[in-house]
Amino acid sequence: MIGLIGNHGAPEGRARIYLDKIEKTFTEKGHLFTVLGLDYRPQQSQMAQSVAASLVGSQSLLFEAGTGVGKSLAYLIPGLIYSIDFERPFVVSTHTISLQEQIIQKDLELCRQLFTAVPELNAYANFKSALLLGKANYCCTTRLESALKDVASDPQGQFQLLQEKQMIPQLAEWSKSSTEGILQEINPSPSMDVWEAINADSSTCSRKNCSSEHCFYQRAKEKIQSAHCIVINHSLLFSLINAGMSPQESDGKGVLFADDFIVLDEAHRVPAIASDHFGIHLSSYALDRALKRIFNPRTNRGMLRRLGSIRDQECVIQAIEAAYDFFADLADVYLSTQSIRRIHQAHAADQQLISRLKAVEERLADLRKSVDDERAQDELKDQRSRILNYRSQLHSFLNFAEDNHVYWLERSEKKAMTITLRSAPLDIAPHLQRALFERNTASILTSATLSNGQQLTHFEERVGAQNAQKKIVSSPFDYKNKVRIYIASDAPQPSRDQGRMDLDYLANMVAWLAHNCQGGSLVLFTSHADLKETYQRARGFFHKIKRPLFAQGIDYSRSELRQRLLAAGNATLLGADSFWTGVDIPGPALSQVIITRLPFENPNHPINEARSEHIKGRGGQPFSEMVIPEALIKFRQGIGRLIRTQSDTGNLVILDSRMLQKHYGSHFIQALPHQNYKRFNLQNRKSIVKKSYLEMP
Ligand code: SF4
Repeated sequence: MIGLIGNHGAPEGRARIYLDKIEKTFTEKGHLFTVLGLDYRPQQSQMAQSVAASLVGSQSLLFEAGTGVGKSLAYLIPGLIYSIDFERPFVVSTHTISLQEQIIQKDLELCRQLFTAVPELNAYANFKSALLLGKANYCCTTRLESALKDVASDPQGQFQLLQEKQMIPQLAEWSKSSTEGILQEINPSPSMDVWEAINADSSTCSRKNCSSEHCFYQRAKEKIQSAHCIVINHSLLFSLINAGMSPQESDGKGVLFADDFIVLDEAHRVPAIASDHFGIHLSSYALDRALKRIFNPRTNRGMLRRLGSIRDQECVIQAIEAAYDFFADLADVYLSTQSIRRIHQAHAADQQLISRLKAVEERLADLRKSVDDERAQDELKDQRSRILNYRSQLHSFLNFAEDNHVYWLERSEKKAMTITLRSAPLDIAPHLQRALFERNTASILTSATLSNGQQLTHFEERVGAQNAQKKIVSSPFDYKNKVRIYIASDAPQPSRDQGRMDLDYLANMVAWLAHNCQGGSLVLFTSHADLKETYQRARGFFHKIKRPLFAQGIDYSRSELRQRLLAAGNATLLGADSFWTGVDIPGPALSQVIITRLPFENPNHPINEARSEHIKGRGGQPFSEMVIPEALIKFRQGIGRLIRTQSDTGNLVILDSRMLQKHYGSHFIQALPHQNYKRFNLQNRKSIVKKSYLEMP
């Protein structure tokens, strides 16, 4: 039971009044249901009261709320009222920018409607909210203006393509009417080169030279200062925390702003995202771009063309060449036969690049002393700190500076070949304890899937939230009558050496299942290679039956694929990774979810391998302590794509016979929405599956 008043909690009388307001809003005849006409859900009421109690007691909370509980309102309403009553900033963090926008545009507006309509809650109707995005998401009007001049005056200028040159005047037009000035408003999106030339994440940005009236980013920051509720995403949250932005006063109260409290929605993503941000991430592409911004010998552009001497430019050229050699050597030695490779020992490569980068830093520092122009000084300072940051990451990587981290290299071929130095903590819990749970404030983590279906133990240990309150409430949806579950008993098991599926079987099953389902299907893969092969094998069939077939990574972006699945009504979408989670397609357009394989993480990935060794080292069992619990969370996420509203119905098909044949399969069976599943195979699918499909309500 959460105590009413914690050491840092609210005075008792005010706390009681606050808790009463929350109770009155969420009880069966409460304002939310009588005024807004929403359906009463006891689970939502429980969640709102748990959140309110956590805030009052400044205690952390892990809350799993099944799909359809209405968790956004269950944390936003108590959070907003608490923020205003106790004058404390309320931070909401979620997984993606589009989810941030959904909270601002939809959920917070619903809260405002409620506060406006209920006289007792009128005092909260004018709450202020603000979206917090990374600087690179904002358009810089100063840079846009100079790009416009550049395009008009210099046909050989920075943009190579005609399309890019034409985009600049269009962006200038858009910026005149835009209120937020963010990339996400622009459709179609500008190319990366165009956006990088005009976004606010530039070394030339100095607030002293621009008024906030003309600067989207400054306006956004001003809005944040006075907002009651600030909506951020996990990635930005952890990069700000990692950059030392948490309150530094002696009591360190607050996660991101002094005396704030925080709710992290979609919290099942937190361990992976935090892990990414508490480690090294240095790519050859980023370093090359950073150096060429200082001076680019090919285009004869960059800051040192104006400010530096030939010798200064030469120093940067040497660093560019050293970086090229450094990454080429790493690629030759470690990545010639694989795209990812764990590094087991320090000093994996020559350290000469470190001294070249140091020389660039020193040049920039000297130049800064010699120029009078304040703007140029800021620019030099900013570039120097970027290079310093890269040098320190490089030094840490080559010297294995952090204990209990795993180090590895990645090769990606997306644009040109990019090599990335990576590291991550083996155990993220101590980092999250410092960042979230030891900040003398309430940190509330919520999602539809934090547990294995019964317990939160694994998640709690993973994030270091042993002292938090914990609660699970199930979904109010009637899964028993809405979902038919089929498990293929004859699906060949992935081959031992390659981990590949029998793709002919898979393509045949996917095509047949999709054909026999009136609505749309989402097919979830654990491997991009299997997804592409299945697409190649099945697309002729889909063409013949005149049903759309889409595949992640082949034609459209993730959000376009979602739109197309929704619009077609009977399409099939093959998705990997990101489609297991966070995709919301209500109605018949998603009537079937097909899970091609139990979602075990790749055991050979350096993080998984090293975590597994770490668990073994302390006498634990990696399979039962790490592999199964994490696969169960992802499995439940995938299943959660099917039923999004009360009226949704659908089929859940699992094409992995390990669920029926392996000893661990029972964990996955228990995690199904109900236990009334049917086994089927290629021979009897017509009588078992098809018959049931025709009986669907
Ligand atoms: S303050 Fe920076 S981001 Fe804003 S308009 Fe000026 S240069 Fe651009």
